[in-house]
Amino acid sequence: MRAIIAVLPGDGIGPEVTSQAVTVLQQVASRFGHEFTFNEAPMGGIAIDRFGDSCPPETIRVCEQANAILLGAVGGPKWSDPTAPVRPEQGLLRIRKHFELFANLRPVKAYPALAQHAPLRPELLQGVDMLFVRELTGGIYFGPQQEQGDGDRAYDTELYTVPEVERVAQVAFRAAQGRRKMMTSVDKANVMASMRLWRRTVVKVHEDYADVQLEHVLVDACAMYLMTRPASFDVLLASNMFGDILSDEASVLAGSLGMLPSASLGSGTFGLYEPIHGSAPDIAGQGKANPTGTILSAALLLRYSLGLETEAQAVEAAVEKALESGARTADIAPRGRTYSSTTEFAQAVLANL
Ligand code: NAD
Repeated sequence: MRAIIAVLPGDGIGPEVTSQAVTVLQQVASRFGHEFTFNEAPMGGIAIDRFGDSCPPETIRVCEQANAILLGAVGGPKWSDPTAPVRPEQGLLRIRKHFELFANLRPVKAYPALAQHAPLRPELLQGVDMLFVRELTGGIYFGPQQEQGDGDRAYDTELYTVPEVERVAQVAFRAAQGRRKMMTSVDKANVMASMRLWRRTVVKVHEDYADVQLEHVLVDACAMYLMTRPASFDVLLASNMFGDILSDEASVLAGSLGMLPSASLGSGTFGLYEPIHGSAPDIAGQGKANPTGTILSAALLLRYSLGLETEAQAVEAAVEKALESGARTADIAPRGRTYSSTTEFAQAVLANL
């Protein structure tokens, strides 16, 4: 197949990790007989420096002409003043809004080879393989809010509509159908009206996905179960804020921030794929970045935007084999042991592809 991929390397370690993921995609193309074109565009701090805009119109145009976007990370100390009129993360929010990317998917897997890096006992990590589906463009982060300078009153509003919950629930149920067919919907229906709407909408959508087993779990209990029985979860569906918090909690199960990918999807196949970590300015330019989160994001791109499931699984298996063979970047290497550079680790993945 032919596909165009917009590559937005961004700042800090962004260019180091995206270049490795592109190399992996190039090898997928040559092994499986596809033709991928990579169009690079500026985004984040680097775009502010060059154009005074974190996401210039030309970058949006490059993305519009692509089948999917592969992003590194944006931001860094140079652009960290929260009162600055132009900030790197604004570009990311603009892209999500522009393409209506309302569902954020974050798979979390605990690799046996890395069990010693996670804070839980190894036996609790056995079989951990879950997928968070977080609502990304609604809820309390986007509801009516008020803040009056240093006044004594401020509020944010959790607001959901039935169509907003329906569309993200459909994404989650479809994902569950391709996995172990279990879905946990996270809410706070005992206290919040918006969460009662959430629950009854999920129950209604479930009628079209009867082959998936559905459970409802309150968010506070879910936070606990993620640590006490993480292997019991398959797909977790959560609102914008609950999904934000719980998916970060669950990320510790993988052993390092550098391990985890994400996909942001809309109603079609177009999507934005990026590792969950930031631009890691403390290690930028040193060849220490773990490229796994970005390489696994490229696998999600193959799966969700290009429909290439076999190729996606091949990349995921190559990462697992590289880890089993002992390849380690600094963040996942035992203390005092020598470790691979970003490029050497990616070479180990390529060797297993
Ligand atoms: P961070 O994720 O960049 O780094 C946190 C810690 O994890 C650092 O010690 C870093 O070295 C390490 N780390 C992160 N990714 C790694 C990788 N691939 N391999 C090895 N180690 C890795 O978070 P931060 O330090 O809070 O933020 C740094 C900058 O990134 C800030 O400007 C922040 O706004 C931005 N940020 C951007 C995004 C994004 O682009 N989506 C997300 C989070 C933070």
